[in-house]
Amino acid sequence: MRKKPFKAESRKLLDMMIHSIYTHKEIFLRELISNASDAIDKLYYHSLSDGSVGFNRADYAITITPDKDARTLTVADNGCGMTADELESNLGVIARSGSLDFKKDAEPTEDISIIGQFGVGFYSAFMVSDRVEVRSRAFGNEEGNLWASDGVEGYTVEPCEMAEHGTVITMHIKENAEEESYDEFLDPYRLRSLVKRYSDYIRYPIRMEMESRRLKEGSENEYETVREWQTLNSMVPLWRKAKSEITKEEYDRFYSDKFFDYEAPARVIHTKTEGAVTYDALLFVPKRAPLDYYSREYEKGLQLYANGVLIMDKCADLLPDYFSFVKGLVDSADLSLNVSREMLQHDRQLQLIARNIEKKIRAELQKMLSDEREAYEDFFKQFGIQLKYGVYSDYGVHKDDLKDLLLFYSSKEKAQTTLAEYRARMPEGQEAIYYAAGETVEKIDMLPQVDAIREKGYEVLYLTDNVDEFALQVMAEYDGKRFANVCADAVDLATEEEKEALKKENEEQKALLDQIKEALGGAVNDVRFTHKLNRYPVCLTSEGALSVEMEKTLNAMPGAQGVKATTVLEISDTHPIAATLKGLAESDPDKVKKYAKLLYAQARLIGGLTVEDPAELSELICELMV
Ligand code: ADP
Ligand code: MG
Repeated sequence: MRKKPFKAESRKLLDMMIHSIYTHKEIFLRELISNASDAIDKLYYHSLSDGSVGFNRADYAITITPDKDARTLTVADNGCGMTADELESNLGVIARSGSLDFKKDAEPTEDISIIGQFGVGFYSAFMVSDRVEVRSRAFGNEEGNLWASDGVEGYTVEPCEMAEHGTVITMHIKENAEEESYDEFLDPYRLRSLVKRYSDYIRYPIRMEMESRRLKEGSENEYETVREWQTLNSMVPLWRKAKSEITKEEYDRFYSDKFFDYEAPARVIHTKTEGAVTYDALLFVPKRAPLDYYSREYEKGLQLYANGVLIMDKCADLLPDYFSFVKGLVDSADLSLNVSREMLQHDRQLQLIARNIEKKIRAELQKMLSDEREAYEDFFKQFGIQLKYGVYSDYGVHKDDLKDLLLFYSSKEKAQTTLAEYRARMPEGQEAIYYAAGETVEKIDMLPQVDAIREKGYEVLYLTDNVDEFALQVMAEYDGKRFANVCADAVDLATEEEKEALKKENEEQKALLDQIKEALGGAVNDVRFTHKLNRYPVCLTSEGALSVEMEKTLNAMPGAQGVKATTVLEISDTHPIAATLKGLAESDPDKVKKYAKLLYAQARLIGGLTVEDPAELSELICELMV
């Protein structure tokens, strides 16, 4: 029979398994048991939609059989089984998406954490075996097939006899090596403790034939050794246990097992609710956003169980988009087992659960914010954008629920601040909550308008995410104070007299200002003298709802319409350059033209924008220098 080679990625992973220096090789057992349990689940699902498939829970089990003499360990299930094709496609290539992305350039130490936390599925059997045989018969098929491999070269598949549907995996356990002993995987007591430790909550019985000593029948002091099948796991799902009985390690392991994360969660939310609807929920906030989180591929949702039985893997209706990062499950006795996806959407119980869960997550995040500020800031770095989108989306209907979970960088604290904290620090007489938008905190810090507001002793929120400004505009105000972009015309802290004086000045200089505007050929909508700039000569200010930063964001989006903010070039009337310009207005209009271009370029650069014609700018500067 011809041997088939493994696909390249599979080879890499197998190679890693065989030569693994990972010390917790025992996790292979948990992987095989979890596959066996999945296989029985699959058959169960199948029975839900196909009445001809009878499913009697009591008939299903996973068995473990060590054989010291043959040096084999066998894990068997009577689940859905696999056809010859499925054996090839499921075991010949890597099944678990993502795990390989992690290991491509991994150092040996990284391999270890991938194996340990992630689990690497079926192939982990090769950490302890030098040959693995998988006999499998798919449900509804007459015959079985044997897949066999030493993990190195490739694998073979050939027909074989099998009495029942299901899968029997026989591992030929490695010989002990100098520093490694594999005997433990043939020892029933050790195996029993591994099942207890890693697979206790598997919902089907995991059985092993074990020896035990007991009194001989009819005797009072004579013992005999009997072999009998024992069920090793308690079968109680973790979320059904009392919170006080569960250790942090158990939660963490459960999470990384089930949701394939190699890091422990940032927060665990475990609730038991009784009342209008009764359910248990076990939710996790991941520490880090998954690689695909901010992509279209990411699918939100919670696992949904009806009385301990999984009925949907990713129930999207249980989570609002702004909490789409939450992983976990909900188990309710009030849901019907046979409910279809379409019906679930309209299920009142489910809607009630979803509402409760949303509230619960919100409360937990709020608690985290007040009790564990540092952890919350880390969380916000990962998922804050999602919350801000939540404020902005659906025309702002969730803004009040989310506004107190937001953080922004504060010019005063030089750290992240909440809106409530900002509000509490606002001095008497401050009319608005000031903000400025830009690419980085450093760039915003240098904006002339920001400088001017700070100089007056006011705090400014620095917005560095594209969505920030849109979110604030949707909120419009916080606790009675409106939000104001310091780079927009609407912010003017001058007194009435100052404003009057400036107005007069601008009227008097109309000819000069027109000259400048004309020189810029429509790049700005207006040119004005201003008193608000501290030490900067110029700045670019926007008028109306659309700011320069928003213009940038909107135009960077696919299918952009090319929107344009209404901009004003403001020139500091107190800066020496103002006097120079006024002096040149009549004597040298040509120079005014050139200076106008220079000033506009400066305003763009200071505002974090690019100059439109760098060559022309460079020429103008050289002309001045020569
Ligand atoms: P994962 O379980 O994450 O999909 P594995 O490497 O553990 O990845 O398993 C690969 C695939 O092989 C599974 O998705 C499943 O289709 C199949 N498989 C493994 N073990 C069994 C089994 N005992 N019964 C049926 N199918 C199985
Ligand atoms: Mg698996």
